[in-house]
Amino acid sequence: MALDLVIKNADIQTASDRFTADIGVKDEVIVEIGRDLDAAGAKVIDATGMRVVPGGIDVHTHLDMPFMGALTADDFKTGTEGAAAGGTTCLVDFAIQAPGESLQTGVDNWHKKADGKSVIDYGFHLIITDLPESRVPEMDAIVEQGIPSFKLFMAYKGALMSEDDAIFRAMRQSAKNGGMVSLHCENGHTVELMVKEALENGNTSPEWHALTRPLACEAEATNRGIALAEMAGSPLYVVHLTAEEALDAVRRAKRKGLPVIAETCPQYLYLSHEDYQREGFEGAKFVMSPPLRPKGNERALWSGLNDGTISTVATDHCSFCFELRDGSKMGKVLGKDDFSKIPNGAPGIENRMQLMWDAVEKGKITPSKFVELTATNPAKIFGLYGKKGTIAIGFDADITIIDPSTKYTISAKTHHMNVDYNPYEGREVECTIKEVFMRGHHMVENGKLSSKLPKGQFIKRAKYGKTLDSKTLEPALV
Ligand SMILES: [Zn+2]
Repeated sequence: MALDLVIKNADIQTASDRFTADIGVKDEVIVEIGRDLDAAGAKVIDATGMRVVPGGIDVHTHLDMPFMGALTADDFKTGTEGAAAGGTTCLVDFAIQAPGESLQTGVDNWHKKADGKSVIDYGFHLIITDLPESRVPEMDAIVEQGIPSFKLFMAYKGALMSEDDAIFRAMRQSAKNGGMVSLHCENGHTVELMVKEALENGNTSPEWHALTRPLACEAEATNRGIALAEMAGSPLYVVHLTAEEALDAVRRAKRKGLPVIAETCPQYLYLSHEDYQREGFEGAKFVMSPPLRPKGNERALWSGLNDGTISTVATDHCSFCFELRDGSKMGKVLGKDDFSKIPNGAPGIENRMQLMWDAVEKGKITPSKFVELTATNPAKIFGLYGKKGTIAIGFDADITIIDPSTKYTISAKTHHMNVDYNPYEGREVECTIKEVFMRGHHMVENGKLSSKLPKGQFIKRAKYGKTLDSKTLEPALV
């Protein structure tokens, strides 16, 4: 068979194995893995000295999202270009149902945002903000469209927040229709009270964002979310887990055999509360929810990754400009005199793979754990496995080639995301993203983002616990 692309001498790392072979790609799919593949007529990449891993899957992004009076700086074009430059070849973004709107309208709006703009493959979760009993059956149709995951917020009172009854309704319906609910776990009621009191006392600086959302605020909501899911008999995915106490709640749930899955993000592993104490308004760059935690908390998260309590590392990429560059988009400056008005969120879609491979180089996680957290588990949990999530015959040729012998310094001056700062500015990582392929399309060539980028496709994902290809094994609970 004449191949389109052959990656020679690939030191292939999957979530289970490491071996050296050539990878043969034809019509966007991996069709051969073996020694000395016939490369006649094919594009050939020699990967000697590199590490070859599955393209990253980021299951928590917010592109082109209006929030808190601002609009995210990255849309599906710039956000996915950043993703590709950083070795991520697939993402699952959060569509939003606005209050009063049908669930379908939220989905339709997101298709319009992504279609023709995304340069990598993508799927959607749906954020539900308004779920009276009468709307519950609408969830079934969304699942059938390949969007089998919903997100509800226990925080952001008066905006995105859902009360327990709505969350419970969504969970019970998911238990029936093959969907899964994910939760933003922070107690929105206590946050509202504490924010009000802080402002009344004249505490307006960015640090107060964190001080009004303590660790227990997340732990309480995580425990409550797990109990609700247990009562509903549904799986639960806890997004961006940060607090050790919340981690313990997930650990207890797993011990009971409950299908509770947790995600964390690089910012909670690498940044800390001290970043809020930077001079002037600089702390606003790190205003996100949950907030960055006191130094030392991250040790619990690293052990959670290694002992399997945390299954995925996603970014929660939600970029707002720091300086006011584009009047229509607004940004962090909205909260100059009031921390509660700072748009919550930070960029990260481009840096996740580098930061996590850096952890491999520093001995914090193994290479197989890296693949598990950044690609294989996300694919299995969110119904992409069978097509994405590993390097195997029949899977999409989504391949990232990492050069572990060179260093890279993260900076807003060189990143591809459309945002004017990088929370990791100046941090050196012990690797570079050397080559990236998405369905065999060459997106990063010798460390540079290609000028000819492919069109990403919407992926209809499989229901919870299923794969996209009936030939692969059913994914076990991860
Ligand atoms: Zn988020």
